[in-house]
Amino acid sequence: MATIIDGKAIAQTIRKEIADEVRSLSQNYNKVPGLAVVIVGMRKDSLSYVSMKRKACSEVGIRSFDIDLPEQISEAEVVAKVHELNNNPDVHGILVQLPLPKHINEENVLSEISIEKDVDGFHPLNIGKLAMKGREPLFQPCTPKGCLELLTRSGISLKSKRAVVVGRSNIVGLPVSLLLLKADATVTIVHSHTLNSENIIREADIVIAAAGQAKMIKGDWIKPGAAVIDVGTNAIDDPSRKSGYRLVGDVDFEEASMVAGCVTPVPGGVGPMTTTLIPNCASLNAADTNEKNATA
Ligand code: NDP
Repeated sequence: MATIIDGKAIAQTIRKEIADEVRSLSQNYNKVPGLAVVIVGMRKDSLSYVSMKRKACSEVGIRSFDIDLPEQISEAEVVAKVHELNNNPDVHGILVQLPLPKHINEENVLSEISIEKDVDGFHPLNIGKLAMKGREPLFQPCTPKGCLELLTRSGISLKSKRAVVVGRSNIVGLPVSLLLLKADATVTIVHSHTLNSENIIREADIVIAAAGQAKMIKGDWIKPGAAVIDVGTNAIDDPSRKSGYRLVGDVDFEEASMVAGCVTPVPGGVGPMTTTLIPNCASLNAADTNEKNATA
């Protein structure tokens, strides 16, 4: 039976580390890291993600700047708000919750976030540096970073391992592939046009599933002993639940548990890592500006 990688427990450990760092910044330099979380409109899922991010900040002592903008706001006004946050020295990280309402061009807004406060790491310059050998981005995207933390904190080395990433999105599949490559794994990306994906996945020592396809990856697609990180979060009907649904991953968890060396559950695997690593970025950035000021 596979070892279950407990994302909640690992996230809790990281939160303690962040809280210690935040306390030390405050005690030694009288500095409190600040994270601005911008939400436009009232989408229920976005409101819930934003509230989790804000709660994660307050738990570790990070100051949260709550920017709640009305659905009808113009693109120019959102951009003006981003500029204001760029210029606010108390704000060390800016997150704009996606998706934005249809009348606002997301690209136009995201590209206005100062690269030095782009804690999501989605600015093309940050992604570009992630892709280049010998360069380091200012920030690594949180979900991909969370996947690697789950592996390394579970004692799984990445060097020279054969890794297969299922999915190539800008927010998960592509950046996680680049991080694995930086960690000296040999990486293959599988996407919706890949033929015979199961044969490719079967060769992997490490599988990162981020396709958004419920239980797509079966037990017999997994190499015995492989490490399986399931990013997928899919709602499927479940009449036995009050809500009428439950969340499952892209991996058939029951089947994978019989074959893999270790596997993350959904929920309770990658999800808690994403929420935890967001305040981490703001905190690191505050510490970094501190160092720059100290050496200036
Ligand atoms: P996207 O829909 O943006 O991307 C999905 C990717 O999977 C695409 O690259 C697509 O290929 C590929 N794909 C789709 N079907 C298949 C298939 N049958 N075989 C192989 N590849 C396939 O999704 P995201 O990357 O945004 O998210 C992926 C999943 O991760 C979702 O379930 C999402 O909810 C979850 N998620 C979880 C997070 C967490 O913190 N736990 C955070 C972010 C996302 P193509 O490019 O060819 O279309």
